[in-house]
Amino acid sequence: MFDKSKSLFEEAKKYIVGGVNSPVRAFKNVGINPIFIKKAKGAYLYSEDSQVFIDYVSSFGPNILGNANNTVINKVKAAIENGFTYGAPTQLEIELAKRIVEAFDSIELTRFVNSGTEAVMSAIRLARGFTQRENCLKFIGGYHGHYDGMLVGAGSGASTFGVPTSKGVIEDIAKHTLLCEYNDFDAVEKIFKEYGNTIACVIVEPIAANMGVVLPQPNFLKFLRDITLNYESLLIFDEVITGFRVCYGGVQTLENIKPDLTILGKIIGGGFPLAMYGGNKDIMSLISPEGPVYQAGTLSGNPIATQAGIATLDMLKYTNPYEQLKLNTQFLISRIMGLSAQYDIPLSENSFGSCFTFFFTDKKPLKYSDVLQSNERLFKNFFLGMLKRGIYFAPSQLEANFLSTAHTKADLEMTINAAEEIFKEFQNAKFIV
Ligand SMILES: *Cc1c(COP(=O)(O)O)cnc(C)c1O
Repeated sequence: MFDKSKSLFEEAKKYIVGGVNSPVRAFKNVGINPIFIKKAKGAYLYSEDSQVFIDYVSSFGPNILGNANNTVINKVKAAIENGFTYGAPTQLEIELAKRIVEAFDSIELTRFVNSGTEAVMSAIRLARGFTQRENCLKFIGGYHGHYDGMLVGAGSGASTFGVPTSKGVIEDIAKHTLLCEYNDFDAVEKIFKEYGNTIACVIVEPIAANMGVVLPQPNFLKFLRDITLNYESLLIFDEVITGFRVCYGGVQTLENIKPDLTILGKIIGGGFPLAMYGGNKDIMSLISPEGPVYQAGTLSGNPIATQAGIATLDMLKYTNPYEQLKLNTQFLISRIMGLSAQYDIPLSENSFGSCFTFFFTDKKPLKYSDVLQSNERLFKNFFLGMLKRGIYFAPSQLEANFLSTAHTKADLEMTINAAEEIFKEFQNAKFIV
């Protein structure tokens, strides 16, 4: 079925380690070769095997307007004509920064970089520089890119492969990352009692989306805000997935909580490499050239990525698709949950806005160890069954799926029908457990 992809994968492995440039793309979890994509438009991916898929991966988050949005294409084409990168400031950077500052109350100053990983690394360096403290608290199953200090208790890619701490991350760095379960108020309090005055920052995905989607318990984020203020630690919201995904702003906008630093990525680059960290003037002014915390980048804020970001944010602002995206997502989820009940399949879901994960367990996960209760065999068979029917879901139980503004009601109906066929097969096979 995927013959050309199979031979391309063999070829790729000769020149690219593991045949891929980011591990989850290898489909290791689901036991098949990855599918090579030739092109994409709107809600669809077109494979080298000449198959068409309804795309729920969204390049793992950026493509909220669907693939290759025409407005973004036109703006990027015009920008390309003017050169790709200058190593000098541009008016476009002001335009994108202004939009972000206007959308986020907690951000007065921004700094653009090329990836979420880079933004996290820089923000943590800044938090350490500002507080003159060394430790950082993160949550088990939270993913903040592959910066050394964050490859401790990380979700998706990292724990998918059973390597919670990557080889090559030295003990002296790992020991400065303190860990708690997400949503565990008591554990956070205990750690702060013991180490509070050494904690430079708490970094959190305000809605976790890299251990599958896991929602914060009521007041959890406010609790983190209060305790970090009490101990004079900084609170960092990693909104790389949630930024401009939940609303024209972030989870902080909806929850009315002001973190000290915010990380954005994915959507703000419109599918191009661009991320940002930002916060108030007091803290951000420590970054070079204003202050003593160094951070730089050859391609940072380059005009192509910046223009793609501006065009994407403007589309989101003027079309305001968030309510409709949420309705469409709820439609898809409620129909699939209804079918799971009808066919007696153990299934739960977590979702926010246009982002969702199905878990093959009756219990809604609240933390990473709950997510691991999901039945892997059922997940794998569901994923493969969907793929066979032209539906491209995330290839790991620890990833989120996304709707875009390009998904039509017909796409959703097709997805629901495919799920029903698979649930029927599961029932006939008495779950293949
Ligand atoms: C994707 C992601 C990152 C890392 O961003 P990259 O651009 O892949 O380096 C960081 N934090 C969160 C929450 C993410 O989802």
